[in-house]
Amino acid sequence: MSDQTFSAAARIPGIRDMLTRLIALPSISSATPAWDHSNEPVVRQLAEWLEPMGFVTEIMPVPGMPGKFNLIATLGSGSGGLVLSGHTDTVPYDDKRWKSDPFTLTERDDRWYGLGTCDMKGFFPLVIEAARAIVGQNLKQPLIILATADEESSMNGARALAEAGRPKARYAVIGEPTGLKPVRMHKGIMMERLIFEGQSGHSSDPSLGNNALEGMHEAMGELLALRKGWQTQYHNANFKVQVPTLNLGCIHGGDNPNRICARCELHFDLRPLPGMKMNELRQMILDRIQPLATTRGLKLSFEPLFDGVPPFETAADADLVSVCERLTGHSAEAVAFATEAPWLQALGLETLVMGPGSIDQAHQPDEFLALSQLNPAVKILQGLIRHYCLE
Ligand SMILES: [Zn+2]
Repeated sequence: MSDQTFSAAARIPGIRDMLTRLIALPSISSATPAWDHSNEPVVRQLAEWLEPMGFVTEIMPVPGMPGKFNLIATLGSGSGGLVLSGHTDTVPYDDKRWKSDPFTLTERDDRWYGLGTCDMKGFFPLVIEAARAIVGQNLKQPLIILATADEESSMNGARALAEAGRPKARYAVIGEPTGLKPVRMHKGIMMERLIFEGQSGHSSDPSLGNNALEGMHEAMGELLALRKGWQTQYHNANFKVQVPTLNLGCIHGGDNPNRICARCELHFDLRPLPGMKMNELRQMILDRIQPLATTRGLKLSFEPLFDGVPPFETAADADLVSVCERLTGHSAEAVAFATEAPWLQALGLETLVMGPGSIDQAHQPDEFLALSQLNPAVKILQGLIRHYCLE
């Protein structure tokens, strides 16, 4: 590493200035087009800070998603190495409920307020600060900073990386807000839509139609029976809700008491535990629903409302788990929210979720990052970098 690189690293702004800049760049991702922003300014800004430090940066367009980019920034080389990963997007906001401008980093009560402070733009300045300490040193394995697109909406950034087989490394820490406690598992999320189409007719003569609502009633019985089976079969004491859940969320069907219901649509949510496979669950549902649709002569449509997030688990005795437990003094736990971890794990990376801030403040007005998290976060990240890239 040249002296030039070394002195350039010293000129990178401090944590507060970096976060001020990142918060000022809107990068909301949303399935609602009016809310959706490009994350390009955020990844370009990160690259601009990382390049003078000696990182080789690659800005990768997410296929089929105009304006959306992943950033892979690599310092050093080698087949192993550590990925520190975060998403660059935020959720939408309700500015009437914010006390200060969501895009202006504002300090109050020993906290930094702003949209994305804890979820999770705040992670990047802390990673860069931690990396600054190793610039100029000889890395045994690479340090890779990964910045993804669209975690809050489609997870398509992470999905595109998994499809591209990038980045290659051995370990990954995703800096979602966990209060700096290591998290080694979460449930998956599936949201599915079931539609039955029959035939309308006068209620006085059932032979005139085919009642989709009655078919749905039976289908709901099947879903609840499946749920009962899964909840008997699967149990994980690490979670607050220790069994997989299935929630019948909303139903729309029919129009009048004296008409046979021609169409009925049900949306439901499934939260599988680690060890349960999404495609197998969908097949099991279909195996129960299809015969009853056939018997009743109803047209069936069963589709996911979004691609879903698989459940995630890293073994309790994994090296990364024990290193993070040692660095933080906390044993690894489970959380109730989903992350990009399954896709990094699919790349062969031993993956853990651990970052500053609390999930309680995420997706809320007056989102903040407590200043008390900053120094401990930098220290833990430096410990990780030292362990996996230097020693
Ligand atoms: Zn997040």
